[in-house]
Amino acid sequence: MINGLRVVIAGGGVGGLTLAGMLTRRGAEVTVLERAHEMRQGFGLTMWPNAFLALRQVGGEAMYKAVCEVSQSMTRLRYRLGSGRLVADIDLTSTLVRQYGEPGYAVTRIELLEALASQAGTEVRYGAEVTDASPDGTVTLADGEVLHADVVIGADGAGSRVRAAIAPPGRPEPESRRLLGWQGVVPRLLTPSQTEAEVYFGPTGSSGMFPLPNGRTYWFLLDPNRDRPRLDGWHEAIRGMVEATPAVSMHRDEARDRPADPDWGAGRVTLLGDAAHPFLPTAGQGACIAMEDAAVLTRRLEGHSDPVAALRRFERDRFRRVRHVLRVSRRLHGMQQLRPAFMRHAGLVVTPTPVITRMYGAPTFPIPEFLGRDRAGVS
Ligand SMILES: Cc1cc2nc3c(=O)[nH]c(=O)nc-3n(C[C@H](O)[C@H](O)[C@H](O)COP(=O)(O)OP(=O)(O)OC[C@H]3O[C@@H](n4cnc5c(N)ncnc54)[C@H](O)[C@@H]3O)c2cc1C
Repeated sequence: MINGLRVVIAGGGVGGLTLAGMLTRRGAEVTVLERAHEMRQGFGLTMWPNAFLALRQVGGEAMYKAVCEVSQSMTRLRYRLGSGRLVADIDLTSTLVRQYGEPGYAVTRIELLEALASQAGTEVRYGAEVTDASPDGTVTLADGEVLHADVVIGADGAGSRVRAAIAPPGRPEPESRRLLGWQGVVPRLLTPSQTEAEVYFGPTGSSGMFPLPNGRTYWFLLDPNRDRPRLDGWHEAIRGMVEATPAVSMHRDEARDRPADPDWGAGRVTLLGDAAHPFLPTAGQGACIAMEDAAVLTRRLEGHSDPVAALRRFERDRFRRVRHVLRVSRRLHGMQQLRPAFMRHAGLVVTPTPVITRMYGAPTFPIPEFLGRDRAGVS
């Protein structure tokens, strides 16, 4: 039962804003607390059918359309070796659209957040840092303000304060892996077309370029160098793209993954998105899974009269899915780091396209819950 439920969401990122929109549409009284003083910048994201179907089914047409309007759909994705040699040419129309009705998309983070905020149904409170949360539904802010809620959602990212606040004393931290990535947005220069994307495997892992709306291209390059991406050994298409990007349009981000705790909530508190289960970006799924979480959590709250039981059910239902995505993203990372490089490249050359499609594509397939034809119950 959601109507009238008092919900506090810590974090106004992709997961928090998606959840806010889904819950306010069902009559919840939602407060979104965001530590930053303004919306987080950051560059591109690729988004896949699993996220878009969850958004459409549970968020409804208006939310879905708002996100579609700022996203560029993609029709092809090509994987290449650093030399430019093609290893897989994936027609996203026949692999994804035909099965799920959705292709892949590329979007800038800021435009995605703006679209989600416009649909959140509540004003985000910027500059509101959560410092503590308790299983009884009490939330404390850095300025001493205390809020009480029926449910509290920690959507506050990989370094979640909410997760730390509800952790059982002495719980060991699971092993985490790190990856540095560079990203940039440039006017479309070298990408093959308006709707085609390319991913190259090179000396430090992978690098990709994706079309964005309004004649722009988003690129990423996984590279541990902290000063500037090193371009030795990369294909000229990647070098040209990075060299054409002014320093102000380039951004470095560190991703850190962590296996989810099987019981990641406590009492009236649960976690969602990176707060519960950060991934390495090798599978391009962190934001997608945060949206999926928001949709499943909304459905569980809708389906239970006891909100605490709904939170526990949500955690149980998500655990296997997020464990799978963590494994895939680690496996892809391991493959991209395989040494010597010729072994890695030889492996890719002999791997048939359907296998590569499956390897990269599996996490992007919608979960059964969102494959149904019934659309949302909200509009
Ligand atoms: C280089 C790179 C590339 C990526 N590419 C992709 C991709 O292509 N596709 C994809 O799906 N994912 C991708 N990801 C992952 C994706 O960015 C994250 O998984 C996603 O942003 C998680 O969303 P979230 O809402 O859980 O957390 P976040 O986006 O981190 O949002 C958390 C919010 O909580 C706020 N916050 C933090 N602490 C507090 C506090 N104490 N109180 C209040 N607010 C707080 C933060 O300011 C932030 O706004 C990529 C990540 C990286 C690093």
